Amino acid sequence: MPVETLTKARWVYAFGGGGADGDASMKNLLGGKGANLAEMSALGLPVPPGFTITTEACVHYYANGKQYPTELAEQVAAGLAKVEELTGKTFGDVANPLLVSVRSGARASMPGMMDTVLNLGLNDETVEGLAKLSGDRRFAYDSYRRFIQMYSNVVLNLEHHMFEEILDDHKDRLDVHVDTGLTADDWAEVIKDYKAAVSDYLGKPFPQDAQEQLWGAVGAVFASWMNDRAKFYRRMHDIPESWGTAVNIQSMVFGNMGDTSATGVAFTRNPSNGDNRLYGEFLINAQGEDVVAGIRTPQSLTKVAREEMGDVAPSMEEAMAEVFGQFKSVVETLERHYRDMQDIEFTVEQGKLYMLQTRSGKRTAKAALKIAVDMAAEGVISKEEAVGRVEPASLDQLLHPTIDPTAHRDVVAKGLPASPGAATGKIVFDSDAAEKAAANGESVILVREETSPEDIHGMHAARGIITARGGMTSHAAVVARGMGRACVSGAGDVAIFEKEGLFRVRGREFKAGEIITIDGSTGDILAGAPKMIEPELTGDFATLMSWADQVRRLKVRANAETPLDAKTARQFGAEGIGLCRTEHMFFDDTRIAAVREMILADDEKGRRTALAKIAPFQKADFVELFTIMEGLPVTIRLLDPPLHEFLPHTEEDVQAVAQATGLDAAKLLRRAKELHETNPMLGHRGCRLGVSYPEIYEMQVRAILEAACEIAKSGKAAPVPEIMHPLVAKGEEMKYLRDLTDRVAKAVLEEQGGDLKYTVGTMIELPRAALRAADLAANAEFFSFGTNDLTQTTFGISRDDAGKFLGAYIDKGIFEKDPFVSLDQDGVGDLIRLAAERGRAARPDVKLGICGEHGGDPASISFCEKVGLDYVSCSPYRVPIARLAAAQAALAAKG
Ligand code: PEP
Ligand code: MG
Repeated sequence: MPVETLTKARWVYAFGGGGADGDASMKNLLGGKGANLAEMSALGLPVPPGFTITTEACVHYYANGKQYPTELAEQVAAGLAKVEELTGKTFGDVANPLLVSVRSGARASMPGMMDTVLNLGLNDETVEGLAKLSGDRRFAYDSYRRFIQMYSNVVLNLEHHMFEEILDDHKDRLDVHVDTGLTADDWAEVIKDYKAAVSDYLGKPFPQDAQEQLWGAVGAVFASWMNDRAKFYRRMHDIPESWGTAVNIQSMVFGNMGDTSATGVAFTRNPSNGDNRLYGEFLINAQGEDVVAGIRTPQSLTKVAREEMGDVAPSMEEAMAEVFGQFKSVVETLERHYRDMQDIEFTVEQGKLYMLQTRSGKRTAKAALKIAVDMAAEGVISKEEAVGRVEPASLDQLLHPTIDPTAHRDVVAKGLPASPGAATGKIVFDSDAAEKAAANGESVILVREETSPEDIHGMHAARGIITARGGMTSHAAVVARGMGRACVSGAGDVAIFEKEGLFRVRGREFKAGEIITIDGSTGDILAGAPKMIEPELTGDFATLMSWADQVRRLKVRANAETPLDAKTARQFGAEGIGLCRTEHMFFDDTRIAAVREMILADDEKGRRTALAKIAPFQKADFVELFTIMEGLPVTIRLLDPPLHEFLPHTEEDVQAVAQATGLDAAKLLRRAKELHETNPMLGHRGCRLGVSYPEIYEMQVRAILEAACEIAKSGKAAPVPEIMHPLVAKGEEMKYLRDLTDRVAKAVLEEQGGDLKYTVGTMIELPRAALRAADLAANAEFFSFGTNDLTQTTFGISRDDAGKFLGAYIDKGIFEKDPFVSLDQDGVGDLIRLAAERGRAARPDVKLGICGEHGGDPASISFCEKVGLDYVSCSPYRVPIARLAAAQAALAAKG
């Protein structure tokens, strides 16, 4: 029996009139927007009254074949009655009509992804009531035609362009160029044509009944939870489909009732760089969506901002001094109350201020850091809270290159610095093309007149975005900042000719495919690819990282094998190397010939001869790595991939190798064929190579220890090599490898006369290894979970081929996330938990780490904290992300 039949479920929560049924803590039930409207209302701020239909109603709707809960109609009617009482207006009443907005509002904000309907309740009769009440027929008709267009698009699924064409026809006929040139009577004619078009298209008239309109809009908001762009956004931001969206129904206030009316958006601090100054835009005589849509150029809120931008149009502070004063104090109240930077929407209706939304504002990583560090310094939040305020994955934005200040800048145009960082790529003009090119590994810059939510996949695929229109809070700017893409918006000089595949700017022409660069921090658009530089990791970044380091328990190491990787890793704060894949050293141009000779050898003697040629290179590699790491632990994994990977594949390649090495081409080819495996991932790789050709691992162990002794003798910090065996499955395998390692080490140490410390361990990459961890621990002093292979072998899904079908699994909700990106905590995670338990039971001080890709994924890091691993290891660029994620995981564990 459904729950709501047992207890009378509550699906509707009211707000307004200085009180509310809900509050800010009820985001899960009321969605972010609904919860904050309730909170603002309870704070006594001017919020137009309304009510919220809960996210649970949406969940119920989808769980019950798209049926509303039985009590919903009755509760909505009661909610509406309360709004009528507070406003003194009546829904559907001809003389004194209540008009409402119907908006989505999920638990996590999903800007622009779902649907909204404004001015609902207007029809052929109520529009006359609105005209009388407002004393402005033109305004009333303009509102009605906007409503018809919006409702038809969102609820009735009719295309916008149908209405735009009708409007353009009227403008042509009347010879006017802007909407404001149309009179009330002109709009009346447009409305007539709009309604006729709807009726023609649908075979029934545009709905006149306010109740029918209301339920149509509620259904459309629920439906928009499942539209493609909402699904894409959820996938990108890990928002579960099961959350559902709330619906907010709120009495309308009008920013388009003449010159004492306005609408705008504001951030309590600058969301781009974090400066502690009110920041935002507004438009006089405009309705809500006009600001974000980028149709008109908005004005600054403050005088200072206007002067800095060099704008002529007055700021809100100058144009509406009194309301601005009130607004400023409301905004300050909100930031103090929420203890975080707020993103606010407001409307001024004939001189009266209304707050329409507040939420914690989206911000760039740079701004997030500055705001967190500043607020901690201001004493508003603690250092630990500051650590929790920055999304670990967003740090990626700070690790992007910027243009070298000494590079020549061929600036071709300038727009607004909408999202920081610099990006170079090929010009593309549409989002599908951007996605396609990116899938082929190309870097692209998406160039658009303006973007809409339909462009989200293209923006995601692009390195950077340029728009010709729109302000700092336009769709492009907001979304790019959220995604960490560089963006230059409102580059008005850029004339885009999409059909011709080119844009022109100041007498120059740029075609699709040409390389350009944008600097999202200055707004510059540059020709070509100027030299970039790596980011400086000082200032707020360093401060927050040091706070993170104070609270985390997990150590953070890097996966690195080249000197450059190792240096980068240290610069980012790595506390050692958790995985040095030695095969990368074998691929190097300078030694591949000797490697090929080794593989082709007929017997052990031949192999040893070739290995002797490789050994000095290996030793030199390790000397360099140990020198850079200055005594920090370095885990070196012995050779892992199948041998045939080192061989040339085509006949032409074989000829080339034969020539370069002097080896016989026919023999080379025969050996390559012999080495070919049907299933190399499960074939002759990992420690299986070390078991069948022990001389390879012997050479490697010797090189590692000789290098370590050399460093120790030179008086530098003595390295602590951790010698790691890959793909071990059985205790007996581990014992064989341990003996091999110790035997060679003993010989080297005797030769060198030192007592250098080293440890021997294993990767855990196979379910059997996890299950029999105690057997392995008998001879392994450390385990490193190789979760790339462990995921592959647990699921039986090839890590190289998964891309072809995992998308379908994610679309169908079978996987929430790609298990190769974010750890499958139930399955693979269970094996890790079990191995940790069994390993520790057999050897209490066994050191535990993770070195698969998951070591840099915040959700997986949180799992590692829970299981009590000692460290995570990830690619150098992810080290700061891992440090912060580890700190947040430690804070979460403290509760
Ligand atoms: C792993 O399998 O997780 C691992 C780190 O090793 P590789 O990716 O080199 O197979
Ligand atoms: Mg592996």
